Amino acid sequence: MSRVLVLDTNKRPLMPCHPARARELLSAGKAAVWRRYPFTIILKERIGGDVQSIQIKLDPGSKTTGIALVMEGKRGKKCIWGAELQHRGIAIKMKLVARRSLRSFRRNRTLRSRPARFLNRTKPKGWLAPSLLHRVLTVDTWVRRLATWTPANAISMELVRFDMQQMENPEISGAEYQQGQLAGYEVREYLLEKWERTCAYCNAKGVPLQIEHIHPKSKGGSNRISNLCVACETCNQKKGSRDISEFLAKKPELLQKILAQAKRPFRDAAAVNSTRWKLYETLKSYGFPVEIGSGGRTKFNRRSQRYSKAHWIDAACVGESGGNVSISILRPLLIKCMGHGNRQACKTDAFGFPNKWRTRTKVFRGFQTGDMVRADVPTGKNAGRHVGRISVRATGKFALATLGGKRDGINWKYFRIIQKQDGYGYS
Ligand SMILES: [Zn+2]
Repeated sequence: MSRVLVLDTNKRPLMPCHPARARELLSAGKAAVWRRYPFTIILKERIGGDVQSIQIKLDPGSKTTGIALVMEGKRGKKCIWGAELQHRGIAIKMKLVARRSLRSFRRNRTLRSRPARFLNRTKPKGWLAPSLLHRVLTVDTWVRRLATWTPANAISMELVRFDMQQMENPEISGAEYQQGQLAGYEVREYLLEKWERTCAYCNAKGVPLQIEHIHPKSKGGSNRISNLCVACETCNQKKGSRDISEFLAKKPELLQKILAQAKRPFRDAAAVNSTRWKLYETLKSYGFPVEIGSGGRTKFNRRSQRYSKAHWIDAACVGESGGNVSISILRPLLIKCMGHGNRQACKTDAFGFPNKWRTRTKVFRGFQTGDMVRADVPTGKNAGRHVGRISVRATGKFALATLGGKRDGINWKYFRIIQKQDGYGYS
């Protein structure tokens, strides 16, 4: 089970506890609920306590970032909490496109408002598009939150997809690299990506592929990436230990193409993704040690421990420390970036002409869009208890998004807030 986060009377973090223990403390009146999402309790009469080391582990992705808390105890490493943070990069991009088209339309209407600005603006160094920066900022927010609610003292994140340096010089570090097991795995994944999972000789797709030496080992060919490609079993056997120029003597065009592609490094993998790099720089500023790992290593760790694929499990398996982690949480907390609404007071019709005005009030009857609420409706089509995220209206009849679907037109007086809106949706 996912552990419950615990704060002492002075709001300093203690070790997360088992849900059963939290229930005991709550029913004995020794603790109170501090936050619902993630579930955090505050102890009423306790200051300080023993803490063990906790590592915040991250698997940053473009749509979803996996987050895991891994505790190092007497019985080895244990994943005690997991979450998946869903980003809204595309939504941000769409909104900016809509705003841009609205503004350019307004300029072109030859009104006196909003003249075009000169294009003399330069982007500062390290600038990221808002949709990408949002990923860095939201992950940063969650790391900062977890660092205040738990006694975390280290961070671990996946920085690159393939560890090029270690692939090229297997001697540099780690027993697994020297044994060649992990290096082999990472090289294989890299080659599959580089050759787009197709046989280099016959372009077969969706078949099992084998690593192929272009200049055969028996004739002095090296194990370097530039001498490797992937081939289907048939082609591999047909080629045997012949040299490529002999094997493809009748197909000089294909030979040229393969030799050129083999020399070319795989660009996407070699460059560290700029968003991850910025996140890494941000996390370093906390002063905690930041461990970095590669995507190949994460996958190797997850596969060798036979865990299923999930973002939060990948996060727990990141880096060298992810090699031996016991995971028993069944469900991670799902966190969705929702934003804080918008400031647009004037809505337009399909042609860009203003036709609606929104009220400047955001709070109605003490509720705001995004609040997590509980509704106890006594009668009617919505009768029953519902928990979810609210959208408010001036009429006082609110909509509620629950796990089981959308409920609409519930009177405000049946709602109770369980957590105020903070830009995220939870389930
Ligand atoms: Zn083939």
